[in-house]
Amino acid sequence: MINVELKDIANLCKRRGFIFQDSEIYGGIGSVWDYGPLGVELKNNVKARWWKSMVYDRDDVEGLDAAILMNPETWKASGHVESFADLLVDCKGCKKRFRIDLLKGKECPECGGELTEPRSFNLMFKTQVGSVEGQTHDVYLRPETAQGIFVNFENILTSSRRKLPFGVAQTGKAFRNEITTGNFTFRSREFEQMELEFFVKPGEDEKWYDYWVNERLRWYISLGIREENLRLREHQQHELAHYAKRCHDIEFLFPMGWSELEGIANRTDYDLKQHAKISGRDLHYFDDATGQRYTPYVIEPSGGVDRAVLAFLVDAYRVETVRERKRVYLSLDKRLAPIKVAVLPLLRNKPEIVEMAHRIRDGIRGDYRVVYDDTASIGRLYRRQDEIGTPYCVTVDVDSLSDGKVTVRDRDTMEQDRIEAARVKDFMTEKLDLS
Ligand code: ATP
Repeated sequence: MINVELKDIANLCKRRGFIFQDSEIYGGIGSVWDYGPLGVELKNNVKARWWKSMVYDRDDVEGLDAAILMNPETWKASGHVESFADLLVDCKGCKKRFRIDLLKGKECPECGGELTEPRSFNLMFKTQVGSVEGQTHDVYLRPETAQGIFVNFENILTSSRRKLPFGVAQTGKAFRNEITTGNFTFRSREFEQMELEFFVKPGEDEKWYDYWVNERLRWYISLGIREENLRLREHQQHELAHYAKRCHDIEFLFPMGWSELEGIANRTDYDLKQHAKISGRDLHYFDDATGQRYTPYVIEPSGGVDRAVLAFLVDAYRVETVRERKRVYLSLDKRLAPIKVAVLPLLRNKPEIVEMAHRIRDGIRGDYRVVYDDTASIGRLYRRQDEIGTPYCVTVDVDSLSDGKVTVRDRDTMEQDRIEAARVKDFMTEKLDLS
């Protein structure tokens, strides 16, 4: 169950500094977003956990950071120039534009007006490379990060001396000139993907496909998303992308309904074969165990960083009543929380307290984000930290000066522990468990 509306999440994100509308002072630009001081921490933590699970915790995956701009032949080979398009209709009355696959009836959903015949609209952003007028050529901003991996297949295989099966992981920006936007960051024109291309021997693809579908579902659950808010949906034949043999979406129960969080596709040998054909390069794999040469199949778990961030926020949002007052808190997994510890001096006018609080802050910062806040009453400071999901608040009070102890408050239970100030670092290391 999800008990929050997207507008509440968007409001919290703006107020507390997670996500802002891009170039807002100029009225913004549709469906482009900036991540603020807390948003960048959360997003980095999501990417770091993905990288850890994909690269550091395994021994069969390499990393890559390919460029956004690519030789435009790439997009001819991949099929994006030809078919990365949505079928659109315009309303003859209100002039609004709609994606035909998302329409329910035959009339305009906004005003009931008559709709035009469908037209195809390519989603790639085009720009020019070159500095001499008349001698430029068109290039595209990549609409997916995957192709950077395929065109580097040979480089990575040779330099890393890998044998199948092995994968290449990459996170990075992708751009799509989306038509149907709205729903906050869910469908953005500039967004970030985290993609793995896992190369396998043909015939072993089904086995690896099942493995990655389960593995990816498990990853979201391991980082705190409640199982009841996740489900798998297999694509029917007519929905499959031109390159895919099978595809499962991991869907999350967003406030607007079940929607795609990540797709896991069996891309077969389509991409490597296409690149071999168009580039003229030999992209076969030589299997020295059997003496066979073949084009590997590819299993691709492809997730959106922004959609994951949104899902983690939505799932973590909690409201409860405490002593007749509303308490809002984000029950984010500690590893994802943007700020891990807030150090709060109870009396900001007492130099000994301030000094002790500074010492505690200086002693624990460095490995994770710690903040020091003395700008409001303790009740308000707790509420602020609850709302941004800070797992622990450390409070220094007058008694701390005599007994050397501080109060550690837990975000979820609101329980308070009195511990030795000298033990705060060890306490956090143990409780935060950032390994
Ligand atoms: P949708 O059907 O929602 O447009 P898609 O099936 O086109 O998505 P894919 O091409 O499979 O998406 O992209 C893989 C992942 O990239 C998606 O699961 C999603 O998390 C993310 N993604 C795709 N498009 C966007 C977007 N416009 N904004 C944010 N994330 C996106």
